[in-house]
Amino acid sequence: MQIPDISRTKSAELYEKAKTYFPGGVNSPVRAFKSVYGTPLFIEKGDGSHIWDADGNEFIDFCGSWGPLILGHNRASVREKVMEVMQKGMSFGAPTALENELAELILSNNKYIQKIRFVSSGTEAVMSAIRLARGYTKRDKILKFEGCYHGHTDALLVKAGSGLVTFGETSSAGVPKAFADETIVVALNDKDALLKAFDDFKDQIAAVIIEPIPANNGLLLQTPEYLNFLRDTCIQNGTMLIFDEVISGFRVGFEGAAAYYNIQPDIITYGKIIGGGLPVGAYGASAEVMDHISPVGSVYQAGTLSGNPVAMAAGIAQLTELLQPGFYEELHDKTAGFVKAIEAFVAERGYELKVFTIGSIFWFAFTGKETISSADDIDPQSMLKFKAMHRELINRGIYLGPSGYEVGFISAAHTTADLETTKTAIFDSLDIVFE
Ligand code: PLP
Repeated sequence: MQIPDISRTKSAELYEKAKTYFPGGVNSPVRAFKSVYGTPLFIEKGDGSHIWDADGNEFIDFCGSWGPLILGHNRASVREKVMEVMQKGMSFGAPTALENELAELILSNNKYIQKIRFVSSGTEAVMSAIRLARGYTKRDKILKFEGCYHGHTDALLVKAGSGLVTFGETSSAGVPKAFADETIVVALNDKDALLKAFDDFKDQIAAVIIEPIPANNGLLLQTPEYLNFLRDTCIQNGTMLIFDEVISGFRVGFEGAAAYYNIQPDIITYGKIIGGGLPVGAYGASAEVMDHISPVGSVYQAGTLSGNPVAMAAGIAQLTELLQPGFYEELHDKTAGFVKAIEAFVAERGYELKVFTIGSIFWFAFTGKETISSADDIDPQSMLKFKAMHRELINRGIYLGPSGYEVGFISAAHTTADLETTKTAIFDSLDIVFE
């Protein structure tokens, strides 16, 4: 049954004002709700799995600040640690023991990296990892996949060119064509395209970068076989393999996708969860590779707020909880049960919808296809159904990221009752979408 739209009076007022301050009224484009109905909701507070907007509407949140909040909003352990550290000052631009503490927590529980460097965002982590790969291999070209997002660094704002040409085209104004020419773009899950690129650019490719769990253009799950093929092909060509684990790191397990698939990449990038909701990114590799970075090595990379103590504190508190025995099993079981119930409902009704999932990530794909493993597999028209579902869910107090290409995240804070409420809201919404 259709229900009335929620009130957005205050959010709409704030948005009008914001438009006079910020391009499009936002500080990051997808927040502008361009792909869904209504004006953006201005969020006032969050607690556990719930958020509240400026009009007092309450939602169960499945966006989790786009992934960082694996423990939910305002987790007491994270808040208290941050407040304790803040009492002593907020930034020194000099080393602190907190950096050691977070590094120790990560490195002693992750066999895929031996040294790490903290930065302040996922974009910065990726940008630095690429520079490291180029410096290490003394090659210039990099290869990325259509449908993977790696932040807004110039070299990666590149999409596939037309036809069989593997040269990338810039996907943003302001990226020099010469930069895009250094980036090769191929389709995911296409072995021939990858081999052709290595053939066309023999001994020129410094790094292949992939989201091993591509989760920025839907959830384009790759087979372990394909990821292993990628690993082997890179080894054969003297090319570094970069796993961009800004989403998957600490999400599908403490050691991320590298452990999930048991594949050793050459460099791994992190972001989101690592900072407990504060701005932290990182990249890590073997000690030998990492020692190519300044001040010991010749690859320059720096940051005024890198390793910021308050941000480190949030990371320490959050990651400590993730190491509790059974943490991931519980989260994954909870997610699997939630997805199964939706799939059962969809099957019973005969609706054309699949819910792809891994760990605590899920994605609604309005498709009849059994698998979706490359960007081309997604029908853009299917996004209209997501748009309709998003409106229904918002009106029923369920907050999903405002685009059908975005995945949802379940956190440790989501209760059985939350998930029951959400399932009912999804069932009712789907009945309207498919009416
Ligand atoms: N890499 C991946 C896989 C991401 O999902 C993102 C952001 O969503 C980034 C890099 C960029 O991270 P940030 O937004 O922190 O710069």
